[in-house]
Amino acid sequence: MPDTLMAPPEAASANPYLPRPARLVSVRQMVPDNHLFTFRFLDSRDTEAFRHRPGQFVMLSLAGVGEAPISISSSPSRPGVLELCVRRVGRLTGALYRN
Ligand SMILES: Cc1cc2nc3c(=O)[nH]c(=O)nc-3n(C[C@H](O)[C@H](O)[C@H](O)COP(=O)(O)OP(=O)(O)OC[C@H]3O[C@@H](n4cnc5c(N)ncnc54)[C@H](O)[C@@H]3O)c2cc1C
Repeated sequence: MPDTLMAPPEAASANPYLPRPARLVSVRQMVPDNHLFTFRFLDSRDTEAFRHRPGQFVMLSLAGVGEAPISISSSPSRPGVLELCVRRVGRLTGALYRN
């Protein structure tokens, strides 16, 4: 799948809206229309800098498809991995499920 872009709540740069490329590394089905997607940032500096608090979300972008807000499911105590639990409903989430 093409690499995904994330706009993290707190990024390495002063601009938290700057997209950060990430790679989908695993997909785990929770229920038929709700899967857990695990991402890792491509740039180790983003991995180092990315921190979040419970309840925060990212804007998940797929190139050429669009973007949507998705809550971060992974624990803030496990930096380096970003888990998103996504329900398949429309354009972006449908494209995510197809990859
Ligand atoms: C702060 C926040 C956090 C969120 N966290 C999560 C999360 O952790 N996990 C998660 O799965 N979702 C989450 N969401 C919801 C997610 O952002 C939306 O479901 C988003 O719209 C999905 O994008 P999409 O492109 O797949 O869907 P869209 O294509 O935008 O479709 C959204 C809905 O509109 C309907 N729709 C689309 N086009 C039409 C049309 N032409 N006519 C009628 N109906 C239509 C679709 O059937 C669907 O029900 C969150 C939303 C917010 C605001």
